[in-house]
Amino acid sequence: MELVRFITEYSDEEKCKTLFKNYRDKVSVVCKRCGSREHYWQKSIWQYECKYCRFRTTLRSGTILEASKLPYRYWIMTMFLMSISKKSFSALEMQHMLGHKRYEPIWAMMHKIRAGMGNRESRYKLDGEVELDDAFMEVVKERVINPLTGKREKRKRGRGSQKQAKVMVMTKFVSDPDKATLTGGKKGRSFRFVKMKVMETLGSKEINKEIEKAVDSKASIISDGWSGYEKLSTVVKNHQYYQIDSKLADKVLPWVHTMISNAKRSLLGTHHWVSDKYLQNYLDEYCYRTNRRYFGQKLWERLMVVAVEDTWYGKLVYVNG
Ligand SMILES: [Zn+2]
Repeated sequence: MELVRFITEYSDEEKCKTLFKNYRDKVSVVCKRCGSREHYWQKSIWQYECKYCRFRTTLRSGTILEASKLPYRYWIMTMFLMSISKKSFSALEMQHMLGHKRYEPIWAMMHKIRAGMGNRESRYKLDGEVELDDAFMEVVKERVINPLTGKREKRKRGRGSQKQAKVMVMTKFVSDPDKATLTGGKKGRSFRFVKMKVMETLGSKEINKEIEKAVDSKASIISDGWSGYEKLSTVVKNHQYYQIDSKLADKVLPWVHTMISNAKRSLLGTHHWVSDKYLQNYLDEYCYRTNRRYFGQKLWERLMVVAVEDTWYGKLVYVNG
């Protein structure tokens, strides 16, 4: 959908509210008290009522909009803008576009959307052939606002200290057996999906734990000879492990390296600096968009589904850690 049509169709709060409700009806509401998915719509009060226990659920309750006081229109417009542009937006840019007075609620809204994207991504595992590597990303140790409460936390003067965060990067590719060679780079390998995970340490125990969540046990992984990868064969079917120097690494692991540099460029280009606490959310947005790069106009509709889903019983985490 083009911007002009979007603005015309969802021109006021009532229309946006109705759109949100239509999506929520399609996805279904889960009763917080008894878990039932069957509800009556109480039109006069704009609430759902559980058919079994009569528990009432407001239109926002249970979704990522639950604690937010921002209008539906802001949410829908922000998701629209986040899905039509190849580039990501900072909260400051979004605040200016929406013309909202305060920065914090806009910042928290965008992080909740990113967390919703991450929640979606965590339902899928990479299978087939997977490249694996780790990267260091520059972050700033700082705490500013708690997105759950919207309150400021203690802030030190300046940006806080710089730090390198450890990130594990996995890419699924499909190889063409006629063209693919180990050191042939991208020739013969086509990229499919990417996952990125912020890590406390790069020890084999933590790596294996995350690989079990992110990669199918029947997959084949290619990596360099880092000692933390030593025990991968206990969690995946096949692990090829190469002692390679940095020149050859780009040839053996071409897609993870491309994804790492693209993600770094995208993050720096949009946000200038990234707080360590929210790095996972930014990476989740990057992966969500990259993995849905062919969705085109459907991307916004998918994001609407993310917004209306009941998140309280799932694993939705608003902040990293
Ligand atoms: Zn109920």
